Amino acid sequence: MRALIIENNQAYRDLLTHTLAQQGFTTDSGDSIESARLYADAEPYDIICVNQDLEDGAGEVFVAYCNQHQRHRDTPILFLTENRDLRAEDLTVRVDGVIHELSEHQIGDQIVHFIDLHLDPVFHEGRILFVEDDAEVAADILGELKKTGYQVSHFTSVEAARLEFDTVTVYGSHAEAYDLAITGLDLDGKLKGEDLVSFIRSYEDGRGFIPIIAVTGDNNDKRRIALYQLGVNDFLPKPVLHQELLVRIGNLMTNKRLLDKVHDIRRELFAMATIDKLTGCHNRHSLMQYSEKFISTARRHEYPVSLLVIDLDHFKAINDNHGHAVGDVVLEQTGALLNASFREGDLVARYGGEEFVVLMTHCNAKDARNKAEELREAIENMKPNGLDLTTCIGVTSLEGGAKGDFEAMFHAADEGVYAAKEGGRNRVVYVAVA
Ligand code: GH3
Ligand code: MG
Ligand code: MG
Repeated sequence: MRALIIENNQAYRDLLTHTLAQQGFTTDSGDSIESARLYADAEPYDIICVNQDLEDGAGEVFVAYCNQHQRHRDTPILFLTENRDLRAEDLTVRVDGVIHELSEHQIGDQIVHFIDLHLDPVFHEGRILFVEDDAEVAADILGELKKTGYQVSHFTSVEAARLEFDTVTVYGSHAEAYDLAITGLDLDGKLKGEDLVSFIRSYEDGRGFIPIIAVTGDNNDKRRIALYQLGVNDFLPKPVLHQELLVRIGNLMTNKRLLDKVHDIRRELFAMATIDKLTGCHNRHSLMQYSEKFISTARRHEYPVSLLVIDLDHFKAINDNHGHAVGDVVLEQTGALLNASFREGDLVARYGGEEFVVLMTHCNAKDARNKAEELREAIENMKPNGLDLTTCIGVTSLEGGAKGDFEAMFHAADEGVYAAKEGGRNRVVYVAVA
């Protein structure tokens, strides 16, 4: 849903933008007839809000423009004015509602009311976990939430809700993730709303951060404060007012979305810092960061680790003969092959240029040699861009807690690569750690 807001007062413009965003609208806004027409010529809108006094003339001028244009003829128009006596009938243009800009805190409610009256139910995206055992209250809230478009899973006991919450392992902006929980306090079963709040907040991943609303019948201050301490974000008193329910949910959903965005950006930054963009493998920095721990843990627990150094043969010739872009495609496909070839706990990194390093956990010398041989063959069969490509792989291992660190292992495997090149390329050479 899209809203156009034409309002000369910045504070009101922000307020309208915020309120409509909470109702699920994406908004465009301006302060003049000129900007309004630019927007209106480009896009259809589901609702248009216009102030009577604009930077370059009367709001009615823009409303008349909308009334005359096919695209906007049926769009609900909300007229804002400081003139407390103005009514829709007094205007020579068609508007669907008038809001008097007297008190800021009433404007939000009036807009929500206007939307309810003039638009098909606004579709709200979001998944809600809802726990309430009172059949009447549950049916009422469920009906209202579903009408508005929220996806709701309803349970009558904390026990059942916990089982469900535990099953959905995704979080954040993931479409299947829960975005909000609403819970009654005294419910079917042994556990209470408080237990659900503690349970949700015990998750250390994004699931633990979803907003929670408690629905309460009594007005017990102590219990309310204790619930806030447990991590409840908001309360809904019974009997639940529909408009209040939707506004409170809308507020918390807006915050949740912002938080999701922050988490997405943080994840992206983390990936940018640790993953090589071209190949999708870990970058050298990441390899250096994890390799020591990778190896020392294996030594302490006396399980075997192996290390491969993989260097493509005559790669310079591919660049020289086919261009750097083709060289990049070859690297990209090699990266994809490597990432698909190793186990979850292994670490595949691009060490530099056309050289890769793989750390293999719980892998002894024999298995590592076999794996390297398989890989050599897979690369030979890959034919990226139809080109012949071969590789040299140096292999080394540490077994039974034997002494050696990353530097020593890398040095040994790199010697293996050197020997493989000397021996005619397209081969695997094992070198023990010195
Ligand atoms: P050898 O068989 O002895 O390994 O020969 P080589 O040509 O593979 O080895 P050399 O180290 O001489 O050349 C590596 C080449 O890789 C040179 C460099 O320009 C190229 N290279 C490094 N990074 C990139 C990259 O990101 N993209 C492309 N296309 N080429 C790269
Ligand atoms: Mg090379
Ligand atoms: Mg090289």
